[in-house]
Amino acid sequence: MANLVAIVGRPNVGKSTLFNRLTKTRRAIVSDEAGTTRDRQYGKCEWNGREFSVVDTGGWVVNSDDVFEEEIRKQVIIATEEADLVLFLVDVATGLTDWDEDVALILRRSNLPVVLVANKTDNNYQHYAAAEFYKLGLGDPVCISSATGSGTGDLLDIVVDTLSFDKTDEIEEGIPRFAVVGRPNAGKSSIINAFIGEDRNIVTEIAGTTRDSIYTRYDKFGFDFYLVDTAGIRRKNKVTEDLEFYSVMRSIRSIESSDVCILMIDATRGIEAQDMNIFQLIQKNNKSLVVVVNKWDLVADKTQKVIDTFENAIRNRMAPFTDFPIVFASALTKQRIFKVLETAKDVYLSRKAKIGTSKLNEVMLPLIEAYPPPSIKGKYIKIKYCTQLPNTQIPSFVFYANLPQYIKEPYRRFLENKIRDNWKLTGSPINIFIRQK
Ligand code: GDP
Ligand code: GDP
Repeated sequence: MANLVAIVGRPNVGKSTLFNRLTKTRRAIVSDEAGTTRDRQYGKCEWNGREFSVVDTGGWVVNSDDVFEEEIRKQVIIATEEADLVLFLVDVATGLTDWDEDVALILRRSNLPVVLVANKTDNNYQHYAAAEFYKLGLGDPVCISSATGSGTGDLLDIVVDTLSFDKTDEIEEGIPRFAVVGRPNAGKSSIINAFIGEDRNIVTEIAGTTRDSIYTRYDKFGFDFYLVDTAGIRRKNKVTEDLEFYSVMRSIRSIESSDVCILMIDATRGIEAQDMNIFQLIQKNNKSLVVVVNKWDLVADKTQKVIDTFENAIRNRMAPFTDFPIVFASALTKQRIFKVLETAKDVYLSRKAKIGTSKLNEVMLPLIEAYPPPSIKGKYIKIKYCTQLPNTQIPSFVFYANLPQYIKEPYRRFLENKIRDNWKLTGSPINIFIRQK
């Protein structure tokens, strides 16, 4: 089960400094973090072989004084609804503030595990100063210095001890797991209802369990699949759903638990920042993608030209990843609902694609020969052989070269494009590795 930790606290207490420190624990292990621009808000942390996701609520605050107070309060509420654990940061240098007391009250009322963290405890003397935070009624403050890293190991020990890493999800392998994601009002609950029709009551039964990833299995229209965490059907929180942060927090767990994400876009609004945030979460988690342009019934002019314009606009926004299907649908009239499921299934199969080594070399080596990597400093660069790695999460290819360090991003993209041209990997991310032969 995926675990989600939220860092909350006033501005300048050191949330992003701590976030960077926590997510760095993993960067060393997972080298390929390319293509993610909003690293500040969401990342993964690994400690003693346990992995969890971290969200820095500070990354989502609009910088304007009048909205700030109310917005932080809403974010804390969202965090308590969606996270498994909250790290509540306070600042030893500033001491206890009214703000801290307000937030502490919200946190105490939730039944969520909260770790009170006294940050900026840069020296031993300041440990004494941290004592005043006992007053918040959230137990012992854990003293750390995000700046130097002191105390963060103890903090991580506490975090992984508190989170549950049991494998409780009993799901069958080989059945695709689909997540329907998108910003509020894109039509997520409507399309889920269209998928499952009269079975809706099955979903209602499990709707209360917010924090668990939920898999509900359907065997409809000849498709056998799990719908992951039917967030759209979960009760909406009208107070907070206008916040960007809300749709992100609501999406994270579904995305993490799925194979294929069905990203709902509202045809009447086009792609906005919230859609891009969710798209980036999908990418960051290496999930496959189907884009559904929903509410197509409301678009009067459905000529091919309009369709092309829509498609180009979407792909341009999501570049360099552009090889994914786009389905124009209406959850309301049920137009192309079946097509959405069919496409999601195809994308799932692309994700599982296995290309034989001899076929791969037969196709790729002549293409490489016709357009070899550019030589650097007079050195001739040769790719001799390629193969798909077995048992990977997403299709991953290794190219063996004499001087792998000289093969740059544009050439990798060339290799990726040629693979995509020749095999159907639509909707699925792929990895290209270049290794020394
Ligand atoms: P945020 O607004 O809560 O995300 O806070 P930041 O992480 O941006 O930190 C605000 C300021 O506090 C920055 O100047 C940091 O360098 C500083 N800071 C963060 N952690 C520590 C710490 O442990 N000790 C000290 N002395 N400064 C810190
Ligand atoms: P969610 O917040 O993403 O779960 O969105 P909902 O499924 O609750 O839909 C938001 C609003 O859009 C509701 O009023 C729906 O009736 C409406 N809606 C959803 N899908 C469609 C569609 O395909 N066509 C039209 N015209 N309205 C839709």
